[in-house]
Amino acid sequence: MKEIVNDILEIGKLLYQKNFILATDGNISALIDNERIIITPSGRRKEKLKEEDLVVINREGAILSGTNRPSSEIYMHLWIYEQRPDVKAIIHAHPPHATSYSFVMPREYTPQLAETRDFVGKISFVPYREPGSKELAKEVKEKIKNSLALVLHKHGVIVGGTSLWDAFSRLERLEFEIKIRMMRRAFQ
Ligand code: 13P
Ligand code: ZN
Repeated sequence: MKEIVNDILEIGKLLYQKNFILATDGNISALIDNERIIITPSGRRKEKLKEEDLVVINREGAILSGTNRPSSEIYMHLWIYEQRPDVKAIIHAHPPHATSYSFVMPREYTPQLAETRDFVGKISFVPYREPGSKELAKEVKEKIKNSLALVLHKHGVIVGGTSLWDAFSRLERLEFEIKIRMMRRAFQ
């Protein structure tokens, strides 16, 4: 539990330092065990979080401990865990390259880099639905069946992993893939 908490707090800082989120954007969660999920609070700067800010919920979303409101994207997180028993951690962020690419991205994306192909896997597009809505969570639940890296139209990305660091690496590689795709155009 202590390790999961420390990893969430560290990743909250890294998301901000690496420009994957700004202001109060993004959210992070992890499975503590089969019944409990720990998740970041809603509307808070994720790089400034302390242990006591995190919220523990059950798999239906009821609060078990913590004084804050859980992330507004709680259903995206809950329904991914429901759909994918292999996923133990989830990160939602707004990295600029992948987010801008979400406006023009095809439904099926073919990675250009071998590392993306091997470590990120399939990258899928999710049509626009209001952030924080059950409609968005429903689309994500469907798309996560075949892909652990989703690009949300006009919004950001969400990734799953077998651990918090696996999810974070997937996010880094996803953003790098799209950044390189964009930068290579400068040489044509
Ligand atoms: P929360 O602060 O409620 O987790 O929301 C951030 C976000 O990125 C919503 O899409
Ligand atoms: Zn968001």
